[in-house]
Amino acid sequence: MITIPFLKIAIHISALISLALAIFVIAKKNKPPTLYYFAGLMFCISLYGTSYFIELSMATLEMARFWLNFEYIGLSFIPYLWFAVAWLYKGDEAERMETFKKYEKGLFLFPFLILVLVLTNPFHHLMYRSFRLLPDVSLSILVTEKGALYYPVNIFQSLVAFVGTIKMLLNMCTMKDRFRGQCILMATAALLPMAGYLINLTMGFPYNLDLGPLFFSAAGLLFFWGIVRIQLFDLTPVEKDLMLDSLDEGVLVIDKEGRLIEYNKMVKNTFFREDKFCLGKSIEATNPKLYEFLSSIEKSSDINYQRQNGTHAIFRVTRTDLTHKLYGKRGDLFVLRDITELQGYVNQLEHLASIDTLTGLPNRRQFFRFAADEIAQAERDNSPFSLIILDIDFFKRVNDTFGHNAGDEALKTVSQILGNNMRAGSLCARYGGEEFVALLPRTSSEEASKVMERLRAIIENSPVEFGEHLIQITASFGISTYLPQKGMTLDTCLDQADQAMYRAKDEGRNRVCRWD
Ligand code: GH3
Ligand code: MG
Ligand code: MG
Repeated sequence: MITIPFLKIAIHISALISLALAIFVIAKKNKPPTLYYFAGLMFCISLYGTSYFIELSMATLEMARFWLNFEYIGLSFIPYLWFAVAWLYKGDEAERMETFKKYEKGLFLFPFLILVLVLTNPFHHLMYRSFRLLPDVSLSILVTEKGALYYPVNIFQSLVAFVGTIKMLLNMCTMKDRFRGQCILMATAALLPMAGYLINLTMGFPYNLDLGPLFFSAAGLLFFWGIVRIQLFDLTPVEKDLMLDSLDEGVLVIDKEGRLIEYNKMVKNTFFREDKFCLGKSIEATNPKLYEFLSSIEKSSDINYQRQNGTHAIFRVTRTDLTHKLYGKRGDLFVLRDITELQGYVNQLEHLASIDTLTGLPNRRQFFRFAADEIAQAERDNSPFSLIILDIDFFKRVNDTFGHNAGDEALKTVSQILGNNMRAGSLCARYGGEEFVALLPRTSSEEASKVMERLRAIIENSPVEFGEHLIQITASFGISTYLPQKGMTLDTCLDQADQAMYRAKDEGRNRVCRWD
């Protein structure tokens, strides 16, 4: 059977525990603001319990009444501090703090009013009408006749704590399943003092004792457990979500069975239907296309993806094995970075690096890349291609006679003619100075010769307009043919075309010569 001295000691111990918790929390480094309220709450609970313990130990009614006042210093503030902790707990603390700060002053006015009401009770008897000590017990247990405001005040206090508790429970409902342990802990902690308060107000505890401090301290202990063991307040689950959601990168975790374990807002907005809750579901069923992409990734890869709104995006995806020391592979972490814009710039840069700025034709670098591909293709298909080197005749004279700008104009004119008259699939590049190089895939020497003869005629008949001058220019062409499976290289081919071109020069310029 629970005896009165036992309960008295329990109240004392619980008050000490609350004090220890308050000190522990205050001493904690890097604490979020919520913890200050929590420390205040624990301190008030301790004050309430300690004062009550002393009250019980007093010999006279007067002394017991005196300590009742101290009890109220703690008691008046508990609902408000409880409300503060409940309101601020979880997640977007800063945002909540802003709302809370707005009402904080008004809220904290009430405990002071209640305290004044209790301290001035001898003058108005609104809280307590009379006091007497319970007879026949070893302790000084106060039996009170309640005043007109006692129940309204207490009901109001309960309501404040109740609203806070409801708020806390609602916050928990929006949390993800895997934090269920925390939710249960918080819910129990939140409901304990409510239960104590209600028992005290309705049925009362044995021997007319107030066991509120026990319930409050028990709740405090549960919170304490949460703080130490699962970092209840350190980085709360919603904050983790906020952290992930604030990333521009997509974060996606899939377990061994292909279920979605974690994903952030970016992934949700891009790959999943927004109204759907996909945690725990199979990625294959949720987004088959994404599943196919992700399955194909070894370490890192770029994926082209058509967004729901039809726009096209490129994601650079990296995959990391999530391996546990004891249990082995648990799943995969994917980080998805939208590189659509970046890729656009890269493409632009690549384009800029591959063209000749004066003429707009592909440059030498681009030609060599193209030629390397074409050689591979020619070897695969066993089909020859033709290579042409073209040099403008007496170009120095154009510069010398009309100036460098006129020379540039001539280069542009020739480039335009070449660009406009190339067959699809072939490439003509500025090789350097007033020399150009062309590659015609799957084209024999004879065919290439016909095409070049036509170009030669066009150039001859397209005088360059420069101011009031019309400058007639001509060019000499040298053709060589790459024959696959003969051990030829691009260099030999270029060399042959060059030799053919010089023969054209020697033979009088403005002509097409083939290497034989
Ligand atoms: P040939 O018929 O033997 O080829 O005579 P050529 O005068 O064309 O030959 P040469 O190689 O001696 O002259 C090429 C000139 O092209 C020399 C150089 O000043 C000029 N040149 C090279 N690049 C440019 C350019 O970008 N703009 C201009 N205006 N001139 C250039
Ligand atoms: Mg030259
Ligand atoms: Mg020349």
